Amino acid sequence: MKSTVSDTPRPARHPLTLTLLASLWLVALPNIPLWRQLAHLPEVTGLRGLLFGLGLALGVAGLTHALLCLFNWRWLLKPVLSVFLLSAASGTYFMWSYGIVIDANMIVNVLQTDPREAADLFNWRLLVSLVLLGVLPVWWLWRQPVRPLGLVRRLGTNLLALAASVLVLVISLLLIYQDFASVMRNHTQLRYLINPLNSFYAIGRVVAQPLERDHSRVEPIGLDARLDLPSGAAPATLIVVVGETARAGNFGLNGYARDTTPRLAREEVVSLRNVWSCGTSTATSLPCMFSHLGKEAYEKRSSNHESLLDVLHRAGLAVLWIDNQSGCKGTCNRVPNVNTAALKVSPYCDGSECHDEVMLHGLDRRIAELPAERRARGVVVFLHQMGSHGPAYHKRVPQAFKRFQPECASNALQQCAREQVVNAYDNTIVYTDHFLAETIGWLKQHKGPTAMVYLADHGESLGENNLYLHGLPYAIAPDVQKRVPWITWTSPAFVQQRGLRPSCLQDKLNAALSHDHFFHSLMGITGVRSSEYRSAMDIYGSCMAAPERS
Ligand SMILES: [Zn+2]
Repeated sequence: MKSTVSDTPRPARHPLTLTLLASLWLVALPNIPLWRQLAHLPEVTGLRGLLFGLGLALGVAGLTHALLCLFNWRWLLKPVLSVFLLSAASGTYFMWSYGIVIDANMIVNVLQTDPREAADLFNWRLLVSLVLLGVLPVWWLWRQPVRPLGLVRRLGTNLLALAASVLVLVISLLLIYQDFASVMRNHTQLRYLINPLNSFYAIGRVVAQPLERDHSRVEPIGLDARLDLPSGAAPATLIVVVGETARAGNFGLNGYARDTTPRLAREEVVSLRNVWSCGTSTATSLPCMFSHLGKEAYEKRSSNHESLLDVLHRAGLAVLWIDNQSGCKGTCNRVPNVNTAALKVSPYCDGSECHDEVMLHGLDRRIAELPAERRARGVVVFLHQMGSHGPAYHKRVPQAFKRFQPECASNALQQCAREQVVNAYDNTIVYTDHFLAETIGWLKQHKGPTAMVYLADHGESLGENNLYLHGLPYAIAPDVQKRVPWITWTSPAFVQQRGLRPSCLQDKLNAALSHDHFFHSLMGITGVRSSEYRSAMDIYGSCMAAPERS
């Protein structure tokens, strides 16, 4: 029989050839986002910069190869190499396209995402880069016959290779140590770009967290919570809108050059301009906003606690959470809550998601279903917006509110001109303006004291310095990801009942405030008191005629 080319057996490769090739591949291609950032640093220039880059590349290759040596066993090697290659490929796309970095918070965001959010991120560029950077090398890898080595010989080879890799790592870092130390200190984000080790390190942090924190129980808070209002006070209705991905600076009310908030401008609202978020993603900000601990203590907490909603509920108020997004991240678990995901209300829902106005649809009926004895004390409804969630901003806005054109109609934001990305984003603020005005309109139709509080979870990057979306580690995130709008509207009946002085709130317009103030301020505006309450953190109570009663 004639022999063909495909019948010729491929030469079996030494396993170290595969680990070496994989390390070089990983350092060169999936780490392009790292090399791009490095090339843009002002202190990394000229020949010295080039040598620094080479030294760092050698160091990263040494570290990657040292890790691979640990997995260089007959049945383990190819699966582990595949995991490295595929993780690196997916990391590359998101770091390159959106300027994000991969840390523990980003992994939590990925774990808590829902199919709708994931679908928003999907596009053919992601697919192509996954295939080119991940699937193709994995396919090549599995076609390579590997030379079998005896156990003892394999152990010896691995130990030698491990020692050599560590040596390469140490020597290359020593050679560039001076620059390395200062660059890494001044640009901490670089360490979150080392691909795919950033993903593995972040996953390790997330896995280790439950060991540091007792997740088995939720500590109760506000056991002494009570309503502290004048006797005979008419029950109030408060709507708290939890905003999504809203940048304070893009609100016309806050001095933005574009009129993105025409409807709120006609209402008597107070819009605070200097409010800072607790985190840069929903998963970190949302539970922190509703915690009594405040950012610093929240991040260091050794156990989880109940939220503001539990305290309001315990004080006897009728509490309801309506979610038009990826859930309340545990804060609303013990109070009545509704998710709009399954709703098919025309014209708000298109089958895959609903515009935020759907939360006002049938709200009277939902409130009427809450216990009457609670409603007699007061109602607090939380509306969790889809808001300005990216990257598919265009999906968040009904056609009638797309004021700024042309808008980016893609989820691959970096492919659109920056003005189009900003247009699409600003349209989401126009729609939020409409939604908040509709909420105020709903409240105006109701008797008794009513009020609305709107506060967003975090901001957004819109292409400044090549950064998109949000979720950068707080210390290195730009201000636009951290400055959030906080808007308050109160009915005349509410102002009168509580002795609220609107001019006093106006005085706080530029005061430095944060999510830390939210818990105590909501206790202030609802009139709930408990041992967790701190009057110094309550922006409303301090503006009421008689904030403290015993
Ligand atoms: Zn968010």
